[in-house]
Amino acid sequence: MSEPLLQVKGLKKYFPIKGGIRGKHIGDVKAVDDVSFELMEGETLGIVGESGCGKSTTGRAIMRLLEPTAGEVIFQGKNITKMHKEELRKARRDIQMVFQDPYASLNPRHNIQKILEEPLKVHGLGDEKERKAKVEKLLGIVGLSSYHAQRYPHQFSGGQRQRIGIARALMTNPKLIIADEPVSALDVSIQAQVLNLMKDLQQELRLTYIFIAHDLGVVRHISDRVGVMYLGKMVELAASEDVYDKPLHPYTQALLAAVPVPDPDFTRETALLKGDIPSPANPPSGCTFHTRCPFKMEACMSKKPVLVEVEPGHSVACHLYDADINNDNKN
Ligand code: SF4
Repeated sequence: MSEPLLQVKGLKKYFPIKGGIRGKHIGDVKAVDDVSFELMEGETLGIVGESGCGKSTTGRAIMRLLEPTAGEVIFQGKNITKMHKEELRKARRDIQMVFQDPYASLNPRHNIQKILEEPLKVHGLGDEKERKAKVEKLLGIVGLSSYHAQRYPHQFSGGQRQRIGIARALMTNPKLIIADEPVSALDVSIQAQVLNLMKDLQQELRLTYIFIAHDLGVVRHISDRVGVMYLGKMVELAASEDVYDKPLHPYTQALLAAVPVPDPDFTRETALLKGDIPSPANPPSGCTFHTRCPFKMEACMSKKPVLVEVEPGHSVACHLYDADINNDNKN
């Protein structure tokens, strides 16, 4: 079996909390807390969870747009977390990001030609003629025309702007795209178009995606595997159909219950998610989901569950699948 394109091992990103007049370190917001997964070339991993669960921070920490607190990110066999500035700059040619709000991420004072050729300039790729030709090619690939190159971001619709964001990410021929809520700001009808475009591009260009979203419904059709995050931790990781057809973690079950189903006769047995997500600066003890979990047991309040493979390719972090704890409960 070939090597994974990306290995994330024990990734942590803590933001220090300072207090008092001396600004002493009094705690940490554990935005990403010991997250591990692998990604094969050409695969799409959807990462899902409510806002504040650490999914976007995970994406940024992988690229070192945010410096990880601990852990390793191995990309194409090289450890990104240990790279020096120049080495990291080169590695970033192969990893690009697509952002949620294409308008905010496109400089309003630059025309599309200038916006799209910027990554080539940053990486010293091509002369003026080659850059112009590449912009024209990428505009065509994402379904726009060469005359759009002279226009400005405000002259485009939301969907077109996201196409430009995708074109910009593709300029350096990356291998991995980290798409952070790329369709969340778009109308539902436009969402499908952008998702289809990303799927087509993946096949055409053999891209690997990490697709971050807060809604399980959005990642369903694009992901090969799905990881569900809650308060900085991965609580379930499995093939997409397993997550949707037989979710194991009570949090995943609750998230799925919130996804609308276009069938009037369909009724769900699972309760919708109640209560707010606790603060990652002061997470609940034991299983951090215990304050909202309908199945919580005594052990859940003191013992942290770890992510373990309970069925082939299906991992979950929940004491319901821990034989020792279940036996204790029965005794
Ligand atoms: Fe619920 Fe306990 Fe499982 Fe956490 S470990 S999800 S509280 S049953």
